[in-house]
Amino acid sequence: PQHSTLFGIPFSNTQMQNAVDWVVQSGEQQACRSAYYINVNSVNLSAGNAQLYRVLQASDRNFIDGSGMRIAARQAGLSLADNNNGTDMLPVLCRAAVTHQRSLFLLGAQRGVACQAADNLRHAYPGLLIAGVQHGYFDDDQAVVDQINQSGADIVLVALGSPRQEIWIDSNKHKLHAQCALAVGGLFDFFSG
Ligand code: UDP
Repeated sequence: PQHSTLFGIPFSNTQMQNAVDWVVQSGEQQACRSAYYINVNSVNLSAGNAQLYRVLQASDRNFIDGSGMRIAARQAGLSLADNNNGTDMLPVLCRAAVTHQRSLFLLGAQRGVACQAADNLRHAYPGLLIAGVQHGYFDDDQAVVDQINQSGADIVLVALGSPRQEIWIDSNKHKLHAQCALAVGGLFDFFSG
């Protein structure tokens, strides 16, 4: 559950392993769940973007990312259980995905980047299932939704930059058959090196 709030945005004040367990667990639910990382950048963007602010309010889980947010939390009298940023979470998520046999779809970044990140992750986490990849410069949302659904992916990582990635997940999650979609920013660029 999301019992804490910072800058009006609800979030789950939890340890990384709990966050990952929530992403990876299959659950009984039918609908695809959404999860976003809240950092100083997304707080700033949402202050000037009512649509992003609404999307962050409507998410199933928000994770707090970054030391700037820890300082803000401390000033609000909150102590954070963890720094749940995407870069540190992805290795934990990949290990849990192997253990629980959950497949990933990598959506976003420039042409070729998600593919390279997928190769690197498969190499680093033997047994990791990557159901598909798609670069992030597309116009036809429905075609991409169909591609993800046809891949049979369980978890969709969406790297389209903020606020596009959060808004894309919110607009398309009801059509996705995956169990969870996470907005991951520049993560594929980081893991493609
Ligand atoms: N991106 C994309 N499609 C777009 C805009 C951005 O795939 O229409 C990708 C971009 O190539 C990069 C990522 O989204 O891989 C955004 O990274 P950035 O670090 O700028 O995002 P942030 O973490 O600041 O949201």
